[in-house]
Amino acid sequence: MNKKLFVLSGSSGVGKGTVLKGFLKRNPDFMLSISCTTRKPRPGEVDGINYFFTTQEEFKNCIENNKFLEWAEFAGNFYGTKKKYINQCLEEGKNVILEIDTQGALQVKKQMPEAVLIFIAPPSLEELEARLRGRHTEDEATIQKRLEQVRAEIKRSENFDYRIVNDKLEDAILRLEEIVKGEINNA
Ligand code: ADP
Ligand code: 5GP
Repeated sequence: MNKKLFVLSGSSGVGKGTVLKGFLKRNPDFMLSISCTTRKPRPGEVDGINYFFTTQEEFKNCIENNKFLEWAEFAGNFYGTKKKYINQCLEEGKNVILEIDTQGALQVKKQMPEAVLIFIAPPSLEELEARLRGRHTEDEATIQKRLEQVRAEIKRSENFDYRIVNDKLEDAILRLEEIVKGEINNA
């Protein structure tokens, strides 16, 4: 069946969500994993669609009961991918995409070496900051916390399989599609 797990990572504000939305519109048969997080919902975010919003206590419970394929603390909140949903999708013969941070991506690769890791990079650090600010979803302290992660994220991306520069949106979507189709056809 050649079904694969793809992991998309990149710094906050680089455009992961936007690129992925464009990709999924053209490839609706891919399953996007919905993560758990202790972060508070942003206006417009819906529980069970954008994330499963959980309390710290529920999250810790899932860690203790070994429910996560991977989890990480990112800029003051916890995020994790449940094993159950991923395994179910792969068993049903569906290609799965995770949109997670670089720490989580490397955990997935350790456990599932066949997973394909794709890093989305900004055209420049100035543009990254402008996009993060321009989104108007985080306060200044949160923006700073997220920008502090960038150096470590670039370092971790050295262990990724692919890198896409999200300069022109349409080009980034097409490149993602090219990578994914190439990997599926070569599986
Ligand atoms: P992420 O999911 O990586 O945190 P988003 O997808 O929310 O990032 O994008 C952050 C902001 O950058 C959004 O306002 C989005 O519209 C914008 N954006 C995304 N891709 C591009 C691009 N290629 N060129 C210009 N702006 C972009
Ligand atoms: P945001 O708060 O902007 O939605 O996400 C912040 C960061 O957490 C992003 O880099 C996003 O990819 C990452 N993230 C989302 N879900 C998960 C997850 O399940 N696990 C990990 N490790 N990171 C996640």
